[in-house]
Amino acid sequence: MPKLADYRQIAAGKVRSIHEVDDKLLLLVASDRISAYDHVLTTPIPDKGRVLTAMSVFWFEKFADLVPNHLVAWDDPRIPAEVRGRALLVRRLDMVQVECVARGYLTGSGMVEYRQSGAVCGVELPPGLVEASELASPIFTPATKAAIGEHDENVSFEHVVGQVGPELAERLRDATLRVYSAAREFARSRGVILADTKFEFGLDADGTLVLGDEVLTPDSSRYWPADSYEPGRVQPSFDKQYVRDWLTSAESGWDRASDTPPPPLPPEVVAATRARYVEAYERITGLSFDDWIS
Ligand code: ATP
Ligand code: MG
Repeated sequence: MPKLADYRQIAAGKVRSIHEVDDKLLLLVASDRISAYDHVLTTPIPDKGRVLTAMSVFWFEKFADLVPNHLVAWDDPRIPAEVRGRALLVRRLDMVQVECVARGYLTGSGMVEYRQSGAVCGVELPPGLVEASELASPIFTPATKAAIGEHDENVSFEHVVGQVGPELAERLRDATLRVYSAAREFARSRGVILADTKFEFGLDADGTLVLGDEVLTPDSSRYWPADSYEPGRVQPSFDKQYVRDWLTSAESGWDRASDTPPPPLPPEVVAATRARYVEAYERITGLSFDDWIS
């Protein structure tokens, strides 16, 4: 049986690491780390890596006919036992250096831009929209990948055209909106709003556009409970709300405006947050998390 250390680590993000299996295959490993308010917390959420991996697999398989994806295997002897259930064996792609964001609702950096200019990434929006307003139709709001510690920067479609050419830019926008729209419709039928999401695509040896990275996980998407949706205010997050509420409560003693790192989470916040991730998975997929491999 292989060990994770047998595979050279080629990159590490805040939450995941990437390892080289051979010249054609990579292993994407999700940890249980969680970020909130731009900080990676010191307290992990047990099973978060497995929940997000299971969710990615669900969506990759569900949309396999809609868009080619990089998934090769999630249960395979080449996946080390120590990361089984939270690691994906994927085809190595030539990644397109564009964060492909689709938004169906206005929030976050989209709302900030709209307030300043009435547009998001060059897409003009009607006046009078408020926090969490649903858009008449989903929009493509690409961003450039920022260096570690920096925020991704929203860019216009024309910027993407300049970066990758008109033909590939069109394919990115088309695939992004197609997959987002299908996922949003499906999530809505399960009582969950998919407000926005970020995809990363790559090209394979044939030049085919392939969906890579993680997909439609709570780390790459904003999921809101539909039953409490109410435009005009910041929506609760389906997965992170307990963490956010506790961090900003007097009890945590943490000042969000300071540059001090957030304190460790108390056990009840950890347990409630773990339960929310599991609930998100089970609600959206209709599957039992107990059946996912470990
Ligand atoms: P963070 O998300 O923490 O801000 P990050 O994006 O650099 O940082 P991760 O998301 O952990 O880190 O890393 C995933 C990396 O793997 C991304 O750079 C992504 O483009 C790359 N990647 C995903 N799928 C593939 C693939 N099939 N082939 C090659 N690279 C891939
Ligand atoms: Mg990333």
